[in-house]
Formats: sequence, structure tokens, C-alpha cells
Amino acid sequence: MNRTDSLILAFALVITVAACKRAAPAAEPDAPAPPADVGIVPASMDTSAKPGDDFFVYADGNWVKNTPIPDDRAAVGGFYLADKERERQTREMLDAILTSTPAAGSDDAKIANYYRAYLDTDAIDRAGVAPAKADLDAIAAIADKRQLSAAIGGTLRADTDPLNATNFQTENLFGIFVTQGLSEPGPSMPYLMQGGIGLSEREYYLSEDKDMTPLRAQYRRYVTQFLQAAHHPDPPGATRRILDLETKIARAHATRTDSENLAKGATIWSRAELERKAPGLDWAALLTAAQLDRVEKFQAYHSTAIPRLSALVASEPLAAWKDWLAFHTLNQQANVLPKAFRDASFAFYGTTLSGTPKQRPREDRAVNAVSVALQDAVGKAYVDKYFPASAKAAIQAMVVEIKGAFTRRVETIDWLAPSTKQEALKKVETIVVGVGYPDQWRDYASLEIGSDAYANQKNARVFEYRHQIAKIGKPMDRLEWWMPPQLVNAVNLPVQNALNFPAAILQRPFFDPKADPAFNYGAIGGTIGHEISHSFDNNGALFDSTGRLRNWWTPADFKRFEEAGRALAAQFDEYEALPGLHVNGKLTLGENIADVAGLAAAYDAYRHSLNGKEAPVIRGFTGDQRFFIAYAQSWASKMRDATLRQRIAVDGHAPDRFRSLTVRNLDAWYAAFNVQPGDKLYLPPDKRVRVWK
Ligand SMILES: [Zn+2]
Repeated sequence: MNRTDSLILAFALVITVAACKRAAPAAEPDAPAPPADVGIVPASMDTSAKPGDDFFVYADGNWVKNTPIPDDRAAVGGFYLADKERERQTREMLDAILTSTPAAGSDDAKIANYYRAYLDTDAIDRAGVAPAKADLDAIAAIADKRQLSAAIGGTLRADTDPLNATNFQTENLFGIFVTQGLSEPGPSMPYLMQGGIGLSEREYYLSEDKDMTPLRAQYRRYVTQFLQAAHHPDPPGATRRILDLETKIARAHATRTDSENLAKGATIWSRAELERKAPGLDWAALLTAAQLDRVEKFQAYHSTAIPRLSALVASEPLAAWKDWLAFHTLNQQANVLPKAFRDASFAFYGTTLSGTPKQRPREDRAVNAVSVALQDAVGKAYVDKYFPASAKAAIQAMVVEIKGAFTRRVETIDWLAPSTKQEALKKVETIVVGVGYPDQWRDYASLEIGSDAYANQKNARVFEYRHQIAKIGKPMDRLEWWMPPQLVNAVNLPVQNALNFPAAILQRPFFDPKADPAFNYGAIGGTIGHEISHSFDNNGALFDSTGRLRNWWTPADFKRFEEAGRALAAQFDEYEALPGLHVNGKLTLGENIADVAGLAAAYDAYRHSLNGKEAPVIRGFTGDQRFFIAYAQSWASKMRDATLRQRIAVDGHAPDRFRSLTVRNLDAWYAAFNVQPGDKLYLPPDKRVRVWK
């Protein structure tokens, strides 16, 4: 859309919304219109639609018409657009570092070295498996189960997370995660989690499902191919041994359902209990090699799997374990090994398992690789350039208002038990909302980054592991970040009673430092409210304000919450995504409740921030109108039909276009757009769902 077009549309809009404006609260005189790329985007709207009939089309109709889905994507929307921008920014920032001459040993020098080595596939191909030789020789020299135990200990990494369903296991036999105990707040301890398989989860090995059998055959071929590339003396024999061992490991694993059950993971074992309950491994050798020999307490997260995995170390032949170790050592470094490894790895993990036909260019992957390996060095450079202190302060001020809105709401609730109310208020009061980036950056002085891509990646993983285990025995740091600033995402951390909103999501269409408060409260404010509300919903009810796994709701609270939920589930069940295909109100209920609660709190906070004044009219829209349009524009998205079908079947979030319709549960939306009985989205006041009120 060129500049002239958008000017014409902006002019037309002033006339169209005049009818709505009459019903809106008395407004200040019109303020001068901001530049076209600031605040809500009138050009994205389809004002021929009536807001009360389809608010998504009204706010996003022209955007949907004019935005193609890129060929290599299944969908396009706010996250994608913010991520494209993040990628452009990171690229620009990196180019500036690469053309500068950073001091040797500085963070910038490490960023430049990492990126260049990763990108230099000619050097990687020329080196062959030489960079891995020391690792492979050490595995070949293992002579007994004690040495095997030490080798397994040496592979431990901080690469699992019990609170993140995509991260329940690792390729190493065990994975580590460090924070305070689930049922025992206080000093941080290592969580011991299951691992040891190269396919996504245990069902891939054990399921009789007809789709799984060919996948297993393809994995088998992949392992052989990989071992051939590594010049293994007997690839077919080693493949048999590895698959046999991994099938036994899979059988030892806890199921996904059990892994998702935090109560089952809350078992704490002392060092002596670990040795007694899980015989087989030489734990002393393992823990010494893992630098965990002085640890007294372990969160035995997979307490059923740990003894079975340990027993397999005793019962299975040493030769099988050595083949397994060699394969996984290379498999986890495939992206920095020669072409034969890289291509085989993408063909299997990228295409066969994930359905991605084409790999992204090496340059893009190099940007992402350095961003993961040196996350704080890249993050610091990123926020220095793209996230000014003023943006952080503006969002922090919004957070104070939104927390205040929740407090006022909880205080006036009459249906929560007094004890529940107390704990809810304590949770709001103590929640730590991280905005943009952490207060403390990691110090990379001890991390060696040179010209060997293989060594660089390995060193970065070991560095991360040491960083994590250094926390053991110390009080949990509630300010710790679990996402890098340069990531378009946000996370609720129940154990810390904290949230992280990385800088990269704090940009359009979610946040615009140049826009007026109505835009920002409607867009990112709704998202902040959504995340905070998760701390009090049925998920948040599992963790109290100290981060202890302790349900602080009474059964009566649950019942009442479920009743409110039923009306909202019915509302979403009515939405038809494709002819005959309806949204599943029950599946998406938790997220829809968070949307209603989050939007309502963001709206309260917005009004409160005005101090009793009325916002100016901008481009013909009142403050309330801009608030709701910004919310709906933050949900602008479109998706391929097949993806939409799949999402509706499995995703706990409703499709974005229906999330934008959350507005119909707020009284203020009716007043802002003069929505009347007879309009398609109209709900009588008693049918509007109110959460936390
Ligand atoms: Zn959510």
C-alpha cells in the first residue's frame, strides 16, 4: 500500500466512524494525526463491515485481503511479522559487528567468530570428523561400566525443562534443569530428567500406530547413514545395537501424560537415596564427571524412569552403549559437521519428522545459532540498539497499572474463599514482570570461541551447563530470565512467580513506543494481562506466591470458576472456522479465560491511567475505539486451511481471528462502537463472561 492510498483511506474513515462516535463517551477535541506507521493502522481495516457484526473483519479485513501467506509458511500474523523484523534487526546489528574490529576476547569478537565459523561450511567440510576426533576416541577407549558412567556424566547438559512440554527429554541419558524444589521452596537444586533417545518421544518406538512403523524404518536408515559418514567400522551392526538399546530406553521412560503431571515430578531424593533407589550406574563416577559430586538433593523429576535407565547401564552390553554414545555425540552436533551429516540430519529431522520441505539459508541459521549460543551477548547488543530505556519504562508503567487493575478486581470478588483471595492478592503483589531484558547479563569471559564451529557449539553448551549448575545450593533468583531478549515470545514462570516479556515481542504490532496509550494498552496490555491472569487461573492455582507446588484454591472456587467457563466454552463453540468446522470451546477454554481476564484488566488499567480525563480523538477514533481496534489488530492473522484444521483439533488456543472477538465480553466495547441488540456479536449483559469479578 503506498502513501497516497493510505491517506485516502484515513480520510474516508473519519466519515465512517462518525456514527459510532456519537455513542462514545464525550471526547477531547481531535489531536493531530500521527504518521501512518504509528498506532492503529486504518488501512488494515475494512470499515464497510459493521463492528458489531464482525469485529475481526472491521479491524483487520483489508489486512487479510492484502497480506499473502509466504510460500514457505503455514500462516502469517503478528508473531510472524514481529519475528521478521527481529530477524532484520539482528542481521543489521550483526553486520555492524562484522565490519567493525572488535577487541580480541570481547563479546563482539566472540559473536563475530561464532558467526563466521558457523557460516564457513567449506572449512567445516574440509575438516571432516577431525573436530570430533577427541570425543570419539574417548568413547572408543571406554573399558568398563564405571568409565561408561563417567562418560554419561560428562554429557549432561542443562537441556531439559519440566515446565515446558516440548522439552521433557534430551538425547543424553539424563538432562538437568536447575531451580528451587517443586514442593520445597528454598535453595536451587538439579532436576534429574529422562533422556537417551533420538526420536521425539517413547511412543515413536513403542506405538503400533501405522504411521509410526515407517518412521522407525526411516530412523534406522538415518542412523546407518550417519555412522557411514563417520567411518564407523560396522554401521549396520551398530544401528541394530543402537535401535535395540533405544527401544529399551523408551520403554523405561515416563509417558508424556506422566511427564506433564508436576505432582508426580515433585519427588526429592538425597544423594544416598539416588544411589539406593537407582542401582546399576556408578553414580559416584557419573556425578563427579558431571561436576555434581557435592550435590546433596536432587529433584527426581522422572523418579520411575531414573531407576530403569540406571538398570539398563548394568544390563546392556558395553559395545551397544559405546555405539549409542558415539552416535548421539555426533547427532547433537550435526549442524556443525560436514555436508553428509548436515543433509542427512535435515532430511530426517526437518523433512521426515517435521514436514519442512526446504531448509532455511545457512546465513539465517547462523544468525539464530549465534543468538542461542551467546544469547546474552547478542541480547545486550540487540537491546542497546533497538530497545531504548524509555520503552522499558513505558511498559513497566503499564505493568504497574495492570497489576493494580487485577488487585482491584480480586478485592471486589465475592465468590472466592477468603484464604484464596488472600493468596491471589499476594501473588499479584509479588509477581515479577521482566520487561525487555534481564537486570544482569552473563559474563562470557571464560567461554572460548574461535574458528572451529564444532568446538564453539560444544563450548557454548558446556558454558550454559556450568552457568546453570553454579546456581545449585543458592536461593532461587526470581529475577532470572529464561528467554533471550531477541525472541518473539513471552513466558509465565510459576516457580519464580514471574513473567518474561523479551524486547523482541515489545514492538509492532504489539507495542509501539510512538503510539498513544490506547494502542499500547489494547495490544501488548492485553497480552500482559493474559499472562498475569494465568497466575490465578486453574494452572496458576497449582503454585502459590512462593513458587511452591501447592494448590491454593478450594473445591468451591474451582466449581465457580468452571461455571464461568461453561458460558465462555459455549460462546467459542459457536464460531465456525471453516464450513462445518467449529472451534472447540472446551479445548481452548483456559486460554480464552486468560484472554477475557487479560483484556478486561488491560482496559481497567487504561482507563485508570487516564486519571479521569478523556483521551483525545486521533484519526477520528476515540481512545476506547483505538484500544479495541489495537487489540484486534494484534490478532490479525491468516492461515492455510489444512493448518487451521489441525490447529482446531489440537491447539489449546483458539484461532487468532476468534481471539479478537473477546471484545464482546466487555461492556465498554458496546459503548465504544454503539453495538446494539440485533448485531451479530451482540451479547445481552448477563451473557457477557466476566472473569475475576
Ligand atoms: Zn496463555
